[in-house]
Amino acid sequence: MKKTAAVFLDRDGVINECMTSRVRHVNSPNQLHLIPGVSQAIRELRTAGFMIFVVTNQGGVGAGFLKESTLRLIHDRLKDELAKDDAFVDDIAFCAHKPTAGCICRKPEPGMIKDLAKRYGIDLSKSFMVGDMDTDIAAGAAAGVRTIKIGEAPVNIFADFVTSDLAHAAEFIIASIENK
Ligand SMILES: [Mg+2]
Ligand SMILES: [Zn+2]
Repeated sequence: MKKTAAVFLDRDGVINECMTSRVRHVNSPNQLHLIPGVSQAIRELRTAGFMIFVVTNQGGVGAGFLKESTLRLIHDRLKDELAKDDAFVDDIAFCAHKPTAGCICRKPEPGMIKDLAKRYGIDLSKSFMVGDMDTDIAAGAAAGVRTIKIGEAPVNIFADFVTSDLAHAAEFIIASIENK
């Protein structure tokens, strides 16, 4: 069977708002606000044949700021908000370990991406990681996917593309597969 390509998405700052005037960190479902254009971008990527995964560091769980049960409610809300726009994600992986735990899943480690790739039969060489932190880019690079940085260009690490938001990232991804 031919392996599928995927787009791995960071959550905070890529899919939903964080560090904006109305929400710093998402600690409850009602603080989850989709960034405009995200649902359409996800729909377009799916139409182009990509599976869509979320890979998010949630060290607040391990550190005791956020209950895992609340995190799951936040992710239910995320899926509900996307569903209202006919968009959906195939799976959401999170690292709940303390930032200092030294686990293999917390980005910049590639553990979440590699694990999803194994479980869903993903061809990483045809896949992409989109994130707003240099650690997202490092995780993607370590997993062997192409990388797209939202916001400023990363420091001391190469990203294949730098842009303002997921809508533009999706355009880049779709153009790059059409140009092959
Ligand atoms: Mg982020
Ligand atoms: Zn972890």
